[in-house]
Amino acid sequence: MSVSTSRPSSAAGRASAADRPVVLVPPAESWHAEKQPGHPLLGALSPSRASDFTTCPLLYRFRTIDRLPEPTSAAMAKGTLVHSVLEALFDLPPAERILPNAVQLLPESWAQLLADEPELAAVVNAGPDPATPAEEAAWLRQAEPLLATYFAMEDPRLLQPAHRELHVECVLPEGPVLRGFVDRVDIADHAGVRIVDYKTGRAPGPRYEQKAMFQLRFYALVVWRMTGALPRMLQLTYLGSGDFLRLAPEADDLRTFELKVRRLWESIVAISETGEWQPRPGGHCRWCSFTSLCPAQGGQLPARASARGRIQPGQVASAHD
Ligand code: SF4
Repeated sequence: MSVSTSRPSSAAGRASAADRPVVLVPPAESWHAEKQPGHPLLGALSPSRASDFTTCPLLYRFRTIDRLPEPTSAAMAKGTLVHSVLEALFDLPPAERILPNAVQLLPESWAQLLADEPELAAVVNAGPDPATPAEEAAWLRQAEPLLATYFAMEDPRLLQPAHRELHVECVLPEGPVLRGFVDRVDIADHAGVRIVDYKTGRAPGPRYEQKAMFQLRFYALVVWRMTGALPRMLQLTYLGSGDFLRLAPEADDLRTFELKVRRLWESIVAISETGEWQPRPGGHCRWCSFTSLCPAQGGQLPARASARGRIQPGQVASAHD
Protein backbone atom coordinates (compact mmCIF):
# COMPACT_ATOMS: atom_id res chain seq x y z
CA MET A 1 0.00 0.00 0.00
CA SER A 2 1.86 3.06 -1.19
CA VAL A 3 1.64 6.58 0.15
CA SER A 4 1.73 9.38 -2.41
CA THR A 5 3.15 12.82 -1.84
CA SER A 6 1.99 15.76 -3.89
CA ARG A 7 2.68 19.45 -3.81
CA PRO A 8 -0.01 21.60 -5.40
CA SER A 9 1.88 23.89 -7.77
CA SER A 10 -1.15 25.30 -9.52
CA ALA A 11 -4.90 25.59 -9.28
CA ALA A 12 -5.04 22.03 -10.68
CA GLY A 13 -3.58 20.77 -7.41
CA ARG A 14 -6.19 22.45 -5.26
CA ALA A 15 -9.43 20.93 -4.07
CA SER A 16 -12.00 20.60 -6.81
CA ALA A 17 -15.06 18.49 -7.48
CA ALA A 18 -12.90 15.96 -9.33
CA ASP A 19 -10.57 15.75 -6.35
CA ARG A 20 -13.24 14.64 -3.94
CA PRO A 21 -13.41 11.10 -2.69
CA VAL A 22 -16.00 8.20 -4.00
CA VAL A 23 -17.94 5.42 -2.04
CA LEU A 24 -20.78 4.64 0.24
CA VAL A 25 -21.78 7.39 2.62
CA PRO A 26 -22.53 6.30 6.19
CA PRO A 27 -25.72 7.60 7.82
CA ALA A 28 -25.28 10.68 9.99
CA GLU A 29 -26.16 8.91 13.26
CA SER A 30 -23.30 6.41 12.88
CA TRP A 31 -20.78 9.23 13.36
CA HIS A 32 -21.71 9.71 17.00
CA ALA A 33 -19.58 7.73 19.48
CA GLU A 34 -20.24 7.51 23.20
CA LYS A 35 -17.07 7.81 25.24
CA GLN A 36 -16.17 4.48 26.84
CA PRO A 37 -14.05 4.37 30.01
CA GLY A 38 -11.48 1.95 28.61
CA HIS A 39 -8.98 -0.02 30.65
CA PRO A 40 -8.94 0.96 34.36
CA LEU A 41 -5.22 1.70 34.34
CA LEU A 42 -4.31 2.11 30.70
CA GLY A 43 -7.44 3.85 29.46
CA ALA A 44 -8.07 3.93 25.74
CA LEU A 45 -5.53 3.80 22.96
CA SER A 46 -5.07 6.84 20.74
CA PRO A 47 -2.60 7.24 17.88
CA SER A 48 -0.43 9.50 20.06
CA ARG A 49 -0.28 7.06 22.94
CA ALA A 50 0.38 4.14 20.58
CA SER A 51 3.21 6.14 19.07
CA ASP A 52 4.58 6.90 22.57
CA PHE A 53 4.71 3.20 23.41
CA THR A 54 6.36 2.30 20.12
CA THR A 55 8.92 5.06 20.63
CA CYS A 56 9.70 4.36 24.30
CA PRO A 57 7.67 2.33 26.83
CA LEU A 58 8.87 4.56 29.68
CA LEU A 59 7.63 7.65 27.84
CA TYR A 60 4.24 5.92 27.51
CA ARG A 61 4.18 5.31 31.24
CA PHE A 62 5.09 8.88 32.14
CA ARG A 63 2.33 10.24 29.92
CA THR A 64 -0.42 7.66 30.22
CA ILE A 65 -0.08 6.12 33.65
CA ASP A 66 1.73 8.74 35.72
CA ARG A 67 0.11 11.54 33.73
CA LEU A 68 3.00 13.87 34.41
CA PRO A 69 2.53 17.46 33.23
CA GLU A 70 4.55 18.73 30.29
CA PRO A 71 5.26 22.29 29.17
CA THR A 72 3.62 23.47 25.97
CA SER A 73 6.16 24.61 23.41
CA ALA A 74 5.62 27.62 21.15
CA ALA A 75 5.47 25.26 18.15
CA MET A 76 2.73 23.19 19.79
CA ALA A 77 0.75 26.32 20.73
CA LYS A 78 1.06 27.68 17.19
CA GLY A 79 -0.17 24.36 15.82
CA THR A 80 -3.17 24.42 18.13
CA LEU A 81 -3.94 28.00 17.08
CA VAL A 82 -3.80 27.20 13.36
CA HIS A 83 -6.00 24.13 13.86
CA SER A 84 -8.49 26.29 15.71
CA VAL A 85 -8.61 28.87 12.89
CA LEU A 86 -9.02 26.19 10.23
CA GLU A 87 -11.91 24.73 12.20
CA ALA A 88 -13.61 28.13 12.61
CA LEU A 89 -13.01 29.00 8.96
CA PHE A 90 -15.72 26.55 7.90
CA ASP A 91 -18.30 28.34 10.07
CA LEU A 92 -18.07 31.18 7.54
CA PRO A 93 -20.25 31.15 4.43
CA PRO A 94 -18.27 29.52 1.57
CA ALA A 95 -17.62 32.76 -0.32
CA GLU A 96 -16.04 34.32 2.79
CA ARG A 97 -13.46 31.57 3.31
CA ILE A 98 -10.53 33.59 2.07
CA LEU A 99 -7.10 34.23 3.56
CA PRO A 100 -7.74 37.75 4.96
CA ASN A 101 -10.75 36.43 6.85
CA ALA A 102 -8.75 33.50 8.19
CA VAL A 103 -6.08 35.93 9.44
CA GLN A 104 -8.80 37.95 11.14
CA LEU A 105 -9.86 34.83 13.02
CA LEU A 106 -6.45 34.56 14.70
CA PRO A 107 -7.03 36.96 17.66
CA GLU A 108 -10.45 35.50 18.46
CA SER A 109 -9.19 31.92 18.25
CA TRP A 110 -6.19 32.75 20.42
CA ALA A 111 -8.40 34.41 23.02
CA GLN A 112 -10.56 31.30 23.14
CA LEU A 113 -7.53 29.04 23.55
CA LEU A 114 -6.23 31.24 26.39
CA ALA A 115 -9.62 31.10 28.09
CA ASP A 116 -9.49 27.29 27.97
CA GLU A 117 -5.78 26.98 28.81
CA PRO A 118 -4.40 30.16 30.47
CA GLU A 119 -0.93 28.61 30.76
CA LEU A 120 -0.54 28.99 26.98
CA ALA A 121 0.13 32.70 27.60
CA ALA A 122 3.69 31.71 28.60
CA VAL A 123 4.61 31.02 24.95
CA VAL A 124 4.07 34.72 24.17
CA ASN A 125 5.55 36.19 27.32
CA ALA A 126 7.11 33.96 29.96
CA GLY A 127 7.41 36.83 32.46
CA PRO A 128 4.98 37.63 35.27
CA ASP A 129 3.22 40.39 33.29
CA PRO A 130 0.63 39.72 30.60
CA ALA A 131 1.80 39.99 26.99
CA THR A 132 1.60 43.50 25.54
CA PRO A 133 -0.65 44.03 22.48
CA ALA A 134 2.51 44.34 20.36
CA GLU A 135 3.90 41.03 21.68
CA GLU A 136 0.61 39.31 21.06
CA ALA A 137 0.31 40.74 17.56
CA ALA A 138 3.84 39.56 16.76
CA TRP A 139 2.95 36.10 18.04
CA LEU A 140 -0.20 35.91 15.95
CA ARG A 141 1.70 37.03 12.84
CA GLN A 142 3.84 33.91 13.15
CA ALA A 143 0.80 31.83 12.24
CA GLU A 144 0.01 33.76 9.06
CA PRO A 145 2.50 31.96 6.75
CA LEU A 146 0.92 28.62 7.70
CA LEU A 147 -2.52 29.93 6.82
CA ALA A 148 -1.18 31.34 3.54
CA THR A 149 0.23 27.91 2.70
CA TYR A 150 -3.11 26.32 3.47
CA PHE A 151 -4.86 28.61 1.01
CA ALA A 152 -2.24 27.81 -1.63
CA MET A 153 -3.01 24.09 -1.17
CA GLU A 154 -6.80 24.05 -0.96
CA ASP A 155 -9.67 26.34 -1.78
CA PRO A 156 -12.00 26.04 1.23
CA ARG A 157 -14.76 27.83 -0.71
CA LEU A 158 -15.16 24.55 -2.64
CA LEU A 159 -15.34 22.36 0.44
CA GLN A 160 -18.17 21.63 2.84
CA PRO A 161 -16.75 19.39 5.59
CA ALA A 162 -19.18 16.93 7.14
CA HIS A 163 -17.32 16.97 10.47
CA ARG A 164 -14.60 18.97 12.17
CA GLU A 165 -12.70 18.03 15.33
CA LEU A 166 -14.72 14.84 15.35
CA HIS A 167 -14.46 12.46 18.29
CA VAL A 168 -14.15 8.96 16.86
CA GLU A 169 -14.12 5.82 18.94
CA CYS A 170 -14.64 2.08 18.66
CA VAL A 171 -14.06 -0.95 20.85
CA LEU A 172 -12.22 -3.79 19.20
CA PRO A 173 -13.64 -7.20 20.20
CA GLU A 174 -11.39 -8.52 22.99
CA GLY A 175 -9.26 -5.47 22.51
CA PRO A 176 -8.80 -1.87 23.54
CA VAL A 177 -11.01 1.15 23.12
CA LEU A 178 -9.55 3.06 20.17
CA ARG A 179 -10.13 6.78 20.29
CA GLY A 180 -9.09 10.04 18.68
CA PHE A 181 -10.09 13.36 17.21
CA VAL A 182 -10.17 13.84 13.46
CA ASP A 183 -9.44 17.36 12.19
CA ARG A 184 -11.84 17.13 9.25
CA VAL A 185 -14.06 14.62 7.47
CA ASP A 186 -15.26 15.36 3.94
CA ILE A 187 -18.16 13.30 2.62
CA ALA A 188 -19.62 13.44 -0.86
CA ASP A 189 -22.44 11.29 -2.27
CA HIS A 190 -20.44 10.42 -5.34
CA ALA A 191 -17.16 10.24 -3.56
CA GLY A 192 -17.40 8.77 -0.08
CA VAL A 193 -15.32 9.66 2.94
CA ARG A 194 -12.05 11.54 3.10
CA ILE A 195 -10.22 11.89 6.43
CA VAL A 196 -8.05 14.98 6.67
CA ASP A 197 -5.44 15.93 9.22
CA TYR A 198 -3.48 19.21 9.30
CA LYS A 199 0.19 19.25 10.24
CA THR A 200 2.01 22.50 10.87
CA GLY A 201 5.41 20.93 10.28
CA ARG A 202 7.07 19.80 7.06
CA ALA A 203 6.24 16.58 5.23
CA PRO A 204 8.56 13.68 6.12
CA GLY A 205 10.98 12.11 3.67
CA PRO A 206 10.02 8.91 1.82
CA ARG A 207 11.52 6.67 4.53
CA TYR A 208 9.10 8.03 7.11
CA GLU A 209 5.91 8.34 5.06
CA GLN A 210 4.42 5.04 6.25
CA LYS A 211 5.16 5.98 9.86
CA ALA A 212 3.49 9.35 9.29
CA MET A 213 0.38 7.55 8.03
CA PHE A 214 0.00 5.54 11.24
CA GLN A 215 -2.33 8.15 12.73
CA LEU A 216 -4.65 8.28 9.72
CA ARG A 217 -4.71 4.49 9.30
CA PHE A 218 -5.73 4.38 12.96
CA TYR A 219 -8.56 6.86 12.33
CA ALA A 220 -9.57 5.02 9.16
CA LEU A 221 -9.87 1.77 11.11
CA VAL A 222 -11.96 3.46 13.83
CA VAL A 223 -14.23 5.18 11.28
CA TRP A 224 -14.65 1.89 9.38
CA ARG A 225 -15.62 0.05 12.58
CA MET A 226 -17.87 2.92 13.72
CA THR A 227 -19.77 3.59 10.52
CA GLY A 228 -19.25 0.55 8.30
CA ALA A 229 -17.81 2.78 5.58
CA LEU A 230 -14.25 2.26 4.44
CA PRO A 231 -12.76 5.76 4.01
CA ARG A 232 -11.80 6.37 0.43
CA MET A 233 -8.91 8.71 1.07
CA LEU A 234 -6.59 9.63 3.94
CA GLN A 235 -4.90 12.99 3.61
CA LEU A 236 -2.15 14.60 5.66
CA THR A 237 -1.90 18.31 4.86
CA TYR A 238 1.57 19.67 5.70
CA LEU A 239 1.34 23.42 6.10
CA GLY A 240 5.05 23.71 6.87
CA SER A 241 6.06 22.57 3.40
CA GLY A 242 2.89 22.75 1.31
CA ASP A 243 2.74 19.00 0.66
CA PHE A 244 -0.08 16.50 0.79
CA LEU A 245 0.56 12.93 1.82
CA ARG A 246 -2.26 10.72 0.64
CA LEU A 247 -3.24 7.10 0.93
CA ALA A 248 -6.28 5.25 -0.43
CA PRO A 249 -6.75 2.54 2.24
CA GLU A 250 -7.95 -0.95 1.34
CA ALA A 251 -9.86 -3.33 3.56
CA ASP A 252 -7.00 -5.85 3.74
CA ASP A 253 -4.58 -3.10 4.66
CA LEU A 254 -6.79 -2.00 7.56
CA ARG A 255 -7.36 -5.59 8.73
CA THR A 256 -3.59 -6.04 8.89
CA PHE A 257 -3.33 -2.73 10.69
CA GLU A 258 -5.95 -3.86 13.21
CA LEU A 259 -3.86 -6.95 13.99
CA LYS A 260 -0.85 -4.68 14.50
CA VAL A 261 -2.83 -2.50 16.93
CA ARG A 262 -4.01 -5.58 18.82
CA ARG A 263 -0.43 -6.84 19.18
CA LEU A 264 0.66 -3.43 20.37
CA TRP A 265 -2.10 -3.38 22.98
CA GLU A 266 -1.18 -6.91 24.14
CA SER A 267 2.40 -5.71 24.64
CA ILE A 268 1.21 -2.70 26.66
CA VAL A 269 -1.00 -4.87 28.88
CA ALA A 270 1.81 -7.43 29.34
CA ILE A 271 4.25 -4.74 30.48
CA SER A 272 1.65 -3.18 32.76
CA GLU A 273 1.42 -6.53 34.54
CA THR A 274 5.15 -6.56 35.30
CA GLY A 275 5.65 -2.79 35.73
CA GLU A 276 8.78 -3.05 33.55
CA TRP A 277 8.40 0.11 31.52
CA GLN A 278 11.86 0.21 30.01
CA PRO A 279 13.43 3.35 28.56
CA ARG A 280 14.35 3.15 24.89
CA PRO A 281 16.85 5.95 24.33
CA GLY A 282 17.40 7.40 20.88
CA GLY A 283 17.20 10.58 18.87
CA HIS A 284 13.64 11.09 20.11
CA CYS A 285 15.02 11.84 23.61
CA ARG A 286 15.84 15.36 22.32
CA TRP A 287 12.13 16.16 22.47
CA CYS A 288 11.33 14.27 25.67
CA SER A 289 10.11 16.33 28.64
CA PHE A 290 11.15 13.68 31.15
CA THR A 291 14.93 13.35 30.77
CA SER A 292 15.45 14.35 34.42
CA LEU A 293 13.30 11.37 35.46
CA CYS A 294 14.76 8.87 33.01
CA PRO A 295 17.38 6.34 34.19
CA ALA A 296 18.75 6.11 30.64
CA GLN A 297 19.64 9.81 30.88
CA GLY A 298 21.08 9.62 34.38
CA GLY A 299 17.80 10.69 35.94
CA GLN A 300 15.92 9.26 38.87
CA LEU A 301 12.48 7.69 38.61
CA PRO A 302 10.20 9.46 41.11
CA ALA A 303 8.96 7.19 43.91
CA ARG A 304 5.34 7.81 43.04
CA ALA A 305 5.94 6.94 39.42
CA SER A 306 7.91 3.78 40.16
CA ALA A 307 5.14 2.46 42.40
CA ARG A 308 2.63 2.76 39.62
CA GLY A 309 2.27 1.06 36.27
CA ARG A 310 1.82 -2.32 37.93
CA ILE A 311 -1.53 -4.05 37.82
CA GLN A 312 -2.50 -6.15 40.77
CA PRO A 313 -3.66 -9.75 40.16
CA GLY A 314 -7.19 -9.70 38.86
CA GLN A 315 -7.02 -5.99 38.10
CA VAL A 316 -6.56 -6.38 34.34
CA ALA A 317 -10.08 -5.78 33.20
CA SER A 318 -11.52 -6.11 29.77
CA ALA A 319 -10.77 -3.20 27.55
CA HIS A 320 -14.53 -2.94 27.14
CA ASP A 321 -14.77 -1.60 30.69
S1 SF4 B 1 14.47 10.45 27.73
FE1 SF4 B 1 14.32 9.01 26.03
S2 SF4 B 1 14.49 6.98 26.96
FE2 SF4 B 1 14.01 8.43 28.59
S3 SF4 B 1 11.79 8.39 28.80
FE3 SF4 B 1 12.28 10.06 27.41
S4 SF4 B 1 12.17 9.12 25.36
FE4 SF4 B 1 12.32 7.45 26.84
